[in-house]
Amino acid sequence: MKTIGLLGGMSWESTTSYYQAINRGVQQYLGGLHSAKVCLVSVDFAVIEILQRQNEWQKAGALLTEAAKHIEAGGADCLLICTNTMHKVAPQIARSINIPLLHIADCTGQKLQQEQIQTVGLLGTQFTMSEDFYTDKLINNFGIDVLVPSAAQQEDIHSIIYDELCLGKVNHTSKQRYLEIINALHQRGAQGMILGCTEIGLLVQQTDTDIPLFDTTAIHAQAAVDFAITTE
Ligand code: GLU
Repeated sequence: MKTIGLLGGMSWESTTSYYQAINRGVQQYLGGLHSAKVCLVSVDFAVIEILQRQNEWQKAGALLTEAAKHIEAGGADCLLICTNTMHKVAPQIARSINIPLLHIADCTGQKLQQEQIQTVGLLGTQFTMSEDFYTDKLINNFGIDVLVPSAAQQEDIHSIIYDELCLGKVNHTSKQRYLEIINALHQRGAQGMILGCTEIGLLVQQTDTDIPLFDTTAIHAQAAVDFAITTE
């Protein structure tokens, strides 16, 4: 079994979801007392969040690149950046390591293609929804049409992520707001929804709606498990 490298802490609330999903996934494959071989480096999210707000992406990328190098030196065979947003600096990180980076948007695009989703709604931070580093992957690599929420909806989604979910707060009103936005995107033609922020799964689950949800944390974690088990 290969060792999975996790670059986490963004936020740590979702890194715990990754850790659990990856260990459950390996256990499902191998049974018994098997668990995943993981090398985790977890950063201080307060530092990253300030750099995001100050538009200092190069600095944030450098900080994450250092962490990624430690993960590689620690024996990891692949790298997962455990956040959608920080994939904005994925190219910078990938250039500095010699192990494969499993890109969260590629893993999600593959899953959408398997499920024959042609038009999808995207929920995430404002960076993920409004910039092209994420949507371009889905459009160019998989030919999937991506619908994003309106400006006002994006603001609500974003602030709920940073002010609540990254702090472990799960609020009923926020859940209703997310479901309202999911329905609106569905009305506009989205056949499914990408939960494109690794904390959203803490708030909204498939049992809350009939619209197919694509939880990027679960998809990314499963891709890591598949890599660890099937790579020679
Ligand atoms: N975990 C979130 C994401 O998947 C947001 C936190 C961050 O900005 O990294 O985008």
